[in-house]
Amino acid sequence: HQPGVFVQDARAMAVYDALEALRRSAPRPLQRWFDPLLLAERIAFVGATTGHFASMVSMQRLRQLNPFMAQSLRCFSILQSTSTLLDELNAFAPTVIATYPTVAALLSDVAAQGALHFAPKEIWTGGETLSAAVRRHVEQGLGCMVRNSYGASEFMSIGWECQHGQMHANTDWLILEPIDAQGQPVPPGQVSHSTLLTNLANFVQPLIRYDMGDQITVHKERCECGSSLPVIEVQGRRDDPLLMAGQDGRLVTLLPLALTTLLEDDAGVFDFQLRQQDDHTLVLRLDPHGADAPAAAARCRNALEKFAVTQGLARLRVRTELGRPVTRGRSGKPQRIVAQIQRKHG
Ligand SMILES: [Zn+2]
Repeated sequence: HQPGVFVQDARAMAVYDALEALRRSAPRPLQRWFDPLLLAERIAFVGATTGHFASMVSMQRLRQLNPFMAQSLRCFSILQSTSTLLDELNAFAPTVIATYPTVAALLSDVAAQGALHFAPKEIWTGGETLSAAVRRHVEQGLGCMVRNSYGASEFMSIGWECQHGQMHANTDWLILEPIDAQGQPVPPGQVSHSTLLTNLANFVQPLIRYDMGDQITVHKERCECGSSLPVIEVQGRRDDPLLMAGQDGRLVTLLPLALTTLLEDDAGVFDFQLRQQDDHTLVLRLDPHGADAPAAAARCRNALEKFAVTQGLARLRVRTELGRPVTRGRSGKPQRIVAQIQRKHG
C-alpha cells in the first residue's frame, strides 16, 4: 500500500504548534521563564531531512513563522555518514536536540566514546517508541533530561510529557479509542491491540476513528501533576538499529529511520522487512502482491549498497525474499527493521 497523505489546514497546524509549545513540560523551568521563545538556545533537529516526515515540515514552518528562531534552529540529516553528522553537530554545539529515540541512543553511544564535544541540556524525542531502557541510556550517556512526545502524521501532537514524566493525551483536541483485535473497546488499564484516532482540530481532512495500529494503555488514575488530561502509555512501531561491520574493523550503526526513508523515498517500496542475518548480510523481504517485485528489489539493493558506502561499511550483501508475507512485530504494526541480536539497552 501507499502511505496515507494527510492534509492539515492552517488552523490544525496552529493547534499542533500551540500544543507542542505550551504543554511539553520544560526540564529547565527557570530557563524557560526567562527565555520562553528559546532564543538563547541552539536547537538541532536530527532526522531524515529529505524524507516526508511531518516533523520536518513542522520545523520548516517554525522557521518561517519565527525568523528569530531560524538562527537558533538547524536541521541535520542522518542520511549522511555518522562522522560527517558528528562534525556538523560538534560545530553547531546545540543546547537542545530534537530527534528520534534511536538517533538519541546512537549519540549517547558516541558520547561514551568521547566523540561528542558539547553537552546538550535537553533532548526532545518523538516519532518512535521510547523504551525505559533507551531513555536511561540516553539520559546517562548525554547527561541531561529527555522529554518525549507522541505524535503521528495523522495528528502531530497526540501526547506530551509532564514534569512527572507521564505522557498525557491531548483529549480536548482528539479522541483516542483503545480497541481489541475484534475492534471492541478496551477498558482503562489494559493494553490495546490498536487505537482509533479522531482528530477534532483538522477540518480540511476530517479523520474519524482512524486505525493507527499503535498499542496504548489509557490510565484512569489522575496524574500527580494536576492535569486532568488522561495519562497514556504507548507502544508504537519498534524498529531496531543494525550493527554492521565497518571498514576499519569497528561496528557501524545503521539507523532504522535512515533505512526506512531510503527504501520508501529512493526505492519506492512501503511493505517490506529488512532482517539482519550477520554483520555483513541483510535479508530483504518484499510484499507478495507487488507485480514489479524483482524491479523493486533491485532498486532497494541499489539504494542500500549506496548507503552502505556512505556509512563506511566493509561490504554489504543483500539477499532478497520475494513473495513472502511480512511478519508482524511486537506491536500490531509489522516490524520493518529487525536486528540479529537485540541491543542490551533496547
Ligand atoms: Zn502529569
